[in-house]
Amino acid sequence: MESIAEELARCGLRATSQRLVVLRLLRGMENHPTVPQIHRALAAEHPSLSRKTVYEILNAFVRAGLASVITEGGEPFRYEANTEPHYHARCRSCNNVFDLPAGSDARLRGSTALPEGFDVEAISVTFRGLCARCRE
Ligand SMILES: [Zn+2]
Ligand SMILES: [Zn+2]
Repeated sequence: MESIAEELARCGLRATSQRLVVLRLLRGMENHPTVPQIHRALAAEHPSLSRKTVYEILNAFVRAGLASVITEGGEPFRYEANTEPHYHARCRSCNNVFDLPAGSDARLRGSTALPEGFDVEAISVTFRGLCARCRE
């Protein structure tokens, strides 16, 4: 199997120790962490890693196709290692973001009227509501 260092190299990124730890952590976290959450998780073992560096590393991963970002109001909000097309469900109480399998793009497009000549490059779908735990 390809190592994380080899993957970084294939994506044109030098395999620095900081990039390695951030990617390894991101892959182990399922709940779409924010930059402060990732930074906090690494701070004890990697005190020299700043929040700004975490942010820069994540954005390099997104550009290289190694991670996805969920934006809110145009700003990067949460990150994930899952780069396959999928939908999200977000709880307005605990702010957890859950992954859902993507439906058919063709059906989704057919369900709405795009402006004529509009070229769709990506589709992001977020269901908002309350998760089971918060509804109790
Ligand atoms: Zn919730
Ligand atoms: Zn996701």
